[in-house]
Amino acid sequence: MKDRASKGPFRLCIGCREVRQKGELLRFVKTSKSVVAFDLKGKMPGRGAYLCPDAACFIMAQKRAAFQRALGVSASARDLLHNVLKDLVKDMLARVFSYKGRGKVVYGENALDKAQPGNLVLALDEVTGDNRRRIEEMRLRGIDVLEVCVRRYIGPDVPGLLLMVNFKRDSYIYEEVEKIRRLSSGGLAI
Ligand SMILES: [Zn+2]
Repeated sequence: MKDRASKGPFRLCIGCREVRQKGELLRFVKTSKSVVAFDLKGKMPGRGAYLCPDAACFIMAQKRAAFQRALGVSASARDLLHNVLKDLVKDMLARVFSYKGRGKVVYGENALDKAQPGNLVLALDEVTGDNRRRIEEMRLRGIDVLEVCVRRYIGPDVPGLLLMVNFKRDSYIYEEVEKIRRLSSGGLAI
């Protein structure tokens, strides 16, 4: 019983037509201006349409005119994907930077020097060369490293490497990063 309750409601992805837990899916609504908007918090009023956090489902939804059918307004998979990634990255960074005020975020190359087991390193750029080797070593030492290539969604002022120390594992950040990773890797094909 408890298990069932914790799974929450289920919804249909309008792309692949699979039924999944609502929390795993991205929600979209039609705005008053008759455009499809991404509902980051899942609380915008009106009827929602749902998609897996997977670029392939965005493409399938567009091919099937599924937004037109579900919300009465068409949408471009490419534009929507871009907006979703922008919003998710912005939200994820806001969460990360909320640690900064408490002195728990270290930037840049220092992030790699100071990382200890139990810390989280977030790589927002492609990791290459010497940093690639260092990151693989850190993983062996039990340091979590999450990698997403989202440079084009963040400003030039945001460093490519962030370290969260005394990090209380925030599963929401891990889930959000996983969604961003799935969306951005498939998104290159669009
Ligand atoms: Zn899907």
